[in-house]
Amino acid sequence: MAKTSCRDCVDLLVDYLEGVLPEDREKALDEHFMACPPCLDFLDQYRASSSLCRKAIETDMPDALAAKLGEFLNKSCK
Ligand SMILES: [Zn+2]
Repeated sequence: MAKTSCRDCVDLLVDYLEGVLPEDREKALDEHFMACPPCLDFLDQYRASSSLCRKAIETDMPDALAAKLGEFLNKSCK
């Protein structure tokens, strides 16, 4: 299986938190979070954000924002 990238984490974060990912995918993300503090931070912050904010991200996260986020995460961890 391909290594999970920071971008994958961003893309799959909502599904991850919803618990709807296939088990092997979820496990791969778990492993990435353990090995990648910036992504873990992002996960914590996302979890801590209000449900209203979460809803907005879930339903309508602009591609540009997702791309920016992935870019940021890729820069901050290699
Ligand atoms: Zn990462």
